[in-house]
Amino acid sequence: MTPSVSSSDRGDLQALVEEIHASFAGQENRGKVADYIPQLAKVDPAQFGIAVVTVDGKAYVAGDADMAFSIQSISKVFTLTLALGMVGDGLWTTVGREPSGTAFNSIVQLEFEKGRPRNPFINAGAIAVADLILAGHQPKEAIGEIVQFVRFLAGDDSIAIDPKVARSETETGFRNFALAQFMRSFGRLHHPAELALGVYFHHCALAMSCRQLANAGLFLAAGGRNPLTGGAVVSRDRARRINALMLMCGHYDGSGDFAYRVGLPGKSGVGGGILAVAPGKASIAVWSPGLGPTGNSLLGTAALEMLAQRTGWSAFGP
Ligand code: GLN
Repeated sequence: MTPSVSSSDRGDLQALVEEIHASFAGQENRGKVADYIPQLAKVDPAQFGIAVVTVDGKAYVAGDADMAFSIQSISKVFTLTLALGMVGDGLWTTVGREPSGTAFNSIVQLEFEKGRPRNPFINAGAIAVADLILAGHQPKEAIGEIVQFVRFLAGDDSIAIDPKVARSETETGFRNFALAQFMRSFGRLHHPAELALGVYFHHCALAMSCRQLANAGLFLAAGGRNPLTGGAVVSRDRARRINALMLMCGHYDGSGDFAYRVGLPGKSGVGGGILAVAPGKASIAVWSPGLGPTGNSLLGTAALEMLAQRTGWSAFGP
């Protein structure tokens, strides 16, 4: 792929990420950190990081871009990619690909739709994907495969799960237990709920920095290939389709607003991170732990809106 960020843009891009950091670092209204997972409630909301990695592999970072945080639901992009590689499009018999219009942990649609989750990014859908990855494995092996896959995507073997976050969520994830048991009652899960959840809670507890996350998402900006290693991760079609799902479903009932304001495929997590993809241009990760009303990073969204406006990057046209 021909890099489409010219060398004259590079100085501008570094200046821009620094300007974005300066605009948001001192802001007072930072949203609210997720407190339903006790370990996440301890995170300092004053932190802010941004990393932009262009398709030629160059990184532009500012703020706390090298501080590891809990990626939470952003990990669902990686487990979906891994599961599609394992089971192919058969995955869509288990999980739908429609926006939910409901909160990430909602149970209401599941009853109407007989335990088939709307999409792989709401909690129910991601638990069903974890259940698929579990096939033929012990939970520890499945978790190990996911960690290896994310390390491979990011080209970074230091990436690991934060065991305290995994334990904290295992002890308090009552809603996720309900979702999993409910799906199991419809015969949608192939393993006991606690095993599928063991995989799910652990991949949500992956700790990564903005720089690592932007590197891991680069294949989605670069037609399915990882420009850092030259290796093919997925086909061009599959990369486009994962981007489509991120755009439609990546921010739950805030997905429409994110598409309107930012105009790029994105996936959020309750740790306050967002991975966004500017196809053909760059992979972007932002982190600000405070969340807005739909459970998406308040300042992270605003920072991406500013980046998209200033660069002109958009999934919807030049
Ligand atoms: N692990 C979190 C949960 O299940 C993920 C939610 C999120 O990041 N939106 O509640």
